[in-house]
Amino acid sequence: MKKHRVIAIDGPAASGKSTTAKLLATRLGFIYLDTGAMYRTVTLAALERGIDIRNEIAVGRLAGEIKIDFIPTEDGNRVILDGRDITNEIRTPAVDAAVSPVSSYKIVREKMVALQKEFARRGDVVAEGRDMATVVFPDADLKIFLVADLETRAIRRCRQLDSPGLKTTIEDQMASLSSRDLFDSERENSPLKKDPEAVVLDTSGMSINEQVERALELVSERLGIE
Ligand code: C5P
Repeated sequence: MKKHRVIAIDGPAASGKSTTAKLLATRLGFIYLDTGAMYRTVTLAALERGIDIRNEIAVGRLAGEIKIDFIPTEDGNRVILDGRDITNEIRTPAVDAAVSPVSSYKIVREKMVALQKEFARRGDVVAEGRDMATVVFPDADLKIFLVADLETRAIRRCRQLDSPGLKTTIEDQMASLSSRDLFDSERENSPLKKDPEAVVLDTSGMSINEQVERALELVSERLGIE
């Protein structure tokens, strides 16, 4: 059986992973795998069902019961929870605040990692998250670790969230992003860290175009795809 190719992109919150991964996948014709969306979906399901997110056993059970799917569209993936489109619901401050504890549970990670590997069996993938290079796809053909300074990331997140129903400020976002990064980096199970083989890309001063072009250069060097 032909081995599918994997491009693994990790990094802290709002470092440009989704934008880069999505555009890279479109340019290369690879599947785009947003693993943060999976952890966000488990979190949303727990919040909606009134499950206490500190209850590891209940959250772990829930992660095994729900069905998470992606429907690719021209604007990226729609995220589906048990047949319902929840693409927008998983990006709220309430989910932001609860997702790190939920994704620190071993049982939740085991279920999500199994699902991630299943997606990667369907074809070539660009997979983004926190542990793509270190844990899920250690044999990835290319590993990229994206970083950007905190203020840049907060400004980007504010722009993404700019909608009438959601009030947020750069200061709020700086606080939310840094507490999530700290939690994700210090957890016991699959913490956020750079794999020794990963190429670091600092996107602070870069436009989206520059980010993607640099990533495409790396793809061409490592995978020989133009
Ligand atoms: O990438 P995004 O910011 O959407 O991820 C949301 C959260 O999901 C992260 O803060 C982290 O707690 C968790 N996550 C994870 N492992 C991944 C991807 C995301 O623990 N591979």
